[in-house]
Order: sequence, then structure tokens, then C-alpha cells
Amino acid sequence: MQTNPETPTRISVAYGDGIGPEIMGAVLNILEAAQARLDIDVVEMGKKSYLEGHNAGIPASTWASIQSNKVLLKAPITTPQGGGYKSLNVTMRKTLGLFANVRPTLSYEPYVKSKHRDIDVVIIRENEEDLYAGIEHRQTTDVTQCLKLITRPGCERIIRYAFEYARANGRKKVSCFTKDNIMKATDGLFHAVFNEIAPEYPDIETDHWIIDIASAKLANEPEKFDVIVTLNLYGDIISDIASEIAGSVGLCGSANIGQTCAMFEAIHGSAPDIAGQDIANPSGLLHAAILMLNAIGQADVATRVHNAWLKTIEDGVHTADIYDAKLSQSKVGTQAFAQAVIERLGQQPQHLKAVSGEKHGLPGALPEYRRPEVKKEMVGVDVFIDWPHANPDEIGQALAAIDGDLVLKMITNRGIKVYPEGFSETFCTDHWRCRFVAKATDASVGHAQVIHLLQQLSQQGWDFIKTEGLYRFDGVNGFSMAQGE
Ligand code: NAD
Repeated sequence: MQTNPETPTRISVAYGDGIGPEIMGAVLNILEAAQARLDIDVVEMGKKSYLEGHNAGIPASTWASIQSNKVLLKAPITTPQGGGYKSLNVTMRKTLGLFANVRPTLSYEPYVKSKHRDIDVVIIRENEEDLYAGIEHRQTTDVTQCLKLITRPGCERIIRYAFEYARANGRKKVSCFTKDNIMKATDGLFHAVFNEIAPEYPDIETDHWIIDIASAKLANEPEKFDVIVTLNLYGDIISDIASEIAGSVGLCGSANIGQTCAMFEAIHGSAPDIAGQDIANPSGLLHAAILMLNAIGQADVATRVHNAWLKTIEDGVHTADIYDAKLSQSKVGTQAFAQAVIERLGQQPQHLKAVSGEKHGLPGALPEYRRPEVKKEMVGVDVFIDWPHANPDEIGQALAAIDGDLVLKMITNRGIKVYPEGFSETFCTDHWRCRFVAKATDASVGHAQVIHLLQQLSQQGWDFIKTEGLYRFDGVNGFSMAQGE
């Protein structure tokens, strides 16, 4: 993504919906005044495109522009209400392989009221996997599921990126947040990969936190954290918390980084409640533009804009969302704020820490993923059955009577063991996970045996809704035990 610093970089720009056009106009005015070397290709996306029938809100011409330019500066968009529309952001991140979402958050006390004085944290959120795979099914009358997919290459890329980012930006510590005390396989993989990669960066301190206490600490003692790397959903939640306690969601920008493309945007939405009033804060989108300038090799312009912005904030020129009669000097609208930043280009803040020669903070090529050679063997199968009666012993005894190479080991309902020897107090739905394993101890199982089992279940009228193979990888179980097993 690095370009010749003297030639203009062609970028795609989307004006977005709601407050989008106002804040984008303000930001582009600042970039032009700061002599950013940009050649702007305006693209269409968002509400209008959704309503024209593009179900992710992105027309083909916009995809072509982004694929050609590789860089998109995007204002927030509005997803129309009602079914059938796919998330534009999730589609864009996954289609373009934008695996890292980088969200720096700072407090600007005493100029912007904030819950804490010393917030300076960068949240690096995995951007493509986790529950955002969007694979959901209703399986029975009672039960719906969403698949949480965590992959080794996905973990390796984001965790290595976090360490590379920390090193490139002179950061001291990378903290990993997971919930691997509960999700031992998925979050456990993320934590294990973190532990594998960390020793390659002995200059960087590391720690690991369980996400619940980590979020509480982040809200209460944010100075404990420097760079945070975490899974998609946790990162989504904690980055909003961090920016809100720092002052306003209107202040933070984010970079969505891939191996070949990058997209830069504010973290907030299109704020339809204040659209068209010239009162929105353009700072979040301006910070996104600063991240972009750094990424495309225009750190000189990024630094000039950033320092002018800091001086504007320090001078008390504030938009309504951060205006405080005790701290601010004047309440200004979106365009007047941009003008105030333009007037301060070339100036440095006097009290807030000035930026000097910002780092790019983007990785070069990450190592190619090498899939390890492992021995995989199937040792059983979980068959999920829709059965609308709340009697575990009845289903258990019927399935235990099936005669074949596979025998019933146990049944769970919502993950808790209910057969054999369940508790009468356990609430049961119509969704039964029935674990079958080889009759002979420790024997492997083949597809033919699973198919034979399913034929027997079908002949007996059981409504099986899905199966999950139980595999061992190099002798280690790749499946969880039941709660209570
Ligand atoms: P929002 O972030 O748009 O607004 C939340 C609150 O913050 C509102 O009170 C709003 O006025 C305020 N706010 C947001 N940005 C501000 C700014 N720059 N200056 C001052 N105040 C600001 O969240 P929402 O209301 O939940 O969502 C509105 C729309 O935005 C929805 O259609 C949603 O799908 C979309 N959205 C888009 C993106 C994106 O494009 N990246 C992200 C989030 C939400």
C-alpha cells in the first residue's frame, strides 16, 4: 500500500448517508488545505444503492473502483430497515479480506470531558470471523443457532498484526482478551496462537485477560492497557466502550486493514437524528483520514492535520457533542470546526501531546500460512435430534437400544448432560445432542458407519437435524465434553 510520496494516491471516497456527506465534505476540505496528495474517485454505496436492489448496498462500479484503488475512505451509511439487506460493512470486510480493525482511542483531558485522564489504547479487533460468519439456522421449534468460527490462519494473522503494530508504533504491551475459560476450543485457539507468537516479540510485554473482567477494567482503569487484540464480537463491544469513556463516539476513527486493500471510517454510524443540521463532529472521520494518510505514505500530511486538530481541541473550539460550557471556548458547527482546523494547519498543540512523524502502523507482508500436517481420525458422531418431549430417559433408552458399530454414549440438552443420570430439575427443549461412539474402545469410525446409524434413526422415525463428526487430531480430542459429563 506504500506509494511514491510525491505522486498523488488515487483513493475511493464514499460520502455515505445521514451525517456522512456533511462530515466527509468537512474532512476533504481539511485534506485539501493540508495539501494531501490525493486523487479522489467518488463512489456510491449505502441506502440509495440498497434501495436500487444491491442487497449489500454496493454497486458493481464501486467494487471495481475499490479493487483498482485499494484504498477507501468511507463515511457512515444507513442500513434500511426491514429484511433481506446484508450488512454493507461485514460484506466489505470479508470480500476484501480486511482482517484487522484498528481503533486507537485517546482522552483529551482537560479539554474534552472524559471518564479518565490517561486513555491511550489501541484496540485491534479480528474483523472477519467469530459469530460474524453469519451462519445461523433455526433447527427446531425452540432452538436457533449461530456458528462461531475461529480459524488458525485468522488467529495467526490478527495476532501477528497486533505485535507488528505495537512494535512499529513504539507500544510496550499487547493484551489478549478471550473467554477461553468457557469456549476452550474457539477462544482457546485464539489464546494458544497468542502464546505461540508472543515469544517472537520479546521486546513487547504481554498478558491475557478473560473478556468480562477485562471489559470492566478497561472501563475503570484504561491506563492498564496499551494494545489490545481480541476476537470480532468482543472487539466490537469494547471499542465502543473505550471511545465513549474517552469522550465521544464522534471522536474515534478506525482502519480496516487487509493484505492488499484498506478501508478507513469513523467508528460511529450515520446519526440520522442530527443529519442535515451542520452539528455533527467530523473528528472521527478526520482521524480515519489521518490513519489513511499514514497508511499510504503521507505521514507528513497526517502529522500536520493531527497537530492542527489537537490545537483546535485545545483552543476550546468544540462541536456540540463535546461542548462543555466550563471547558469549551466556542460551540461550532461541522463546517466551522473544519475551518478552525484549517486555520491551525502548521501549528502545534501547547499542552496536549503533539504528534511527531506518525508511524505507518501497518504491516508489510505477513508470513504465508502453512497448514500443519496432522493425523485426523473420526471417533464418533454427535447427532442432533428434534424431539418435542421433555423426557431424557425415554429418548435415551430408545437410542441406547440401537444395535450397530456405533453406540450411544450420552445425550445433552443445551449442552448439559441429561442422559444417562441426568437431573430431573434440568429444563429440556426439543433439541437433543446425542453422542455416538465406536462400540469397540478407542476404535476409529468411518463414514459408512455414520450413514448406517442415520439410516437406522430414519427408519425408526427420529428427526435428525444435523450431525457433527467427533475428530481426534494427532491423538487430541477436537471436541468438547458435555457440561456435567
Ligand atoms: P450512531 O453512531 O449513528 O448514533 C448514535 C448516537 O451518537 C446518536 O445520538 C448520534 O447523534 C450520535 N453521534 C454519532 N456520530 C456523531 C458525530 N459524528 N457527532 C455527533 N454525534 C454523533 O448509531 P445508531 O443511531 O445506532 O445508527 C444509525 C445508523 O447508522 C443505522 O442505520 C446503522 O445501521 C448505521 N451505522 C453505520 C455504521 C457504519 O457505516 N460504519 C456504523 C454504525 C451504525
